[in-house]
Amino acid sequence: MPEPCGRTFDEALLSGYVDRALVQREGQRVRLHLESCAACRATVEDLRAMREAAMSSTFETPRDEEWSETPHTEAGRLLVGLGWPLVTAWAVLVGGYALWGSWQETDNLLERLMLLGGVTGFAMLFVGVLLDRLKAAKTDHYREVHR
Ligand SMILES: [Zn+2]
Repeated sequence: MPEPCGRTFDEALLSGYVDRALVQREGQRVRLHLESCAACRATVEDLRAMREAAMSSTFETPRDEEWSETPHTEAGRLLVGLGWPLVTAWAVLVGGYALWGSWQETDNLLERLMLLGGVTGFAMLFVGVLLDRLKAAKTDHYREVHR
């Protein structure tokens, strides 16, 4: 399909031209056309702007440490260290109490099975998170040693 501006090559060549990825003959062909075609010059400018935007957004990506939830002060570390066991104990107590209540209230086998399923699921999630945190703690330690 011929382009409205009369260029005889594919738009992919414009993109290749911006990336300086063309062989000499093709580059020459694109350059010649650009000299006489404002529309394609605009396309090339657009492509360049897009490349630059992509480049700068890569540089703005935060580093790993900035994503980390690990606190950076001693006090923060201490509070989080104390907070986790407290939250855990609270969840186990409140959850256990509520479950025990429901268990006592029902003698329906199906309901008891549903309760057991919930407890099992919760326990699996909890153990999973715990293992995760233990691993993260080890990684943090490693990072500190090598900083
Ligand atoms: Zn053109």
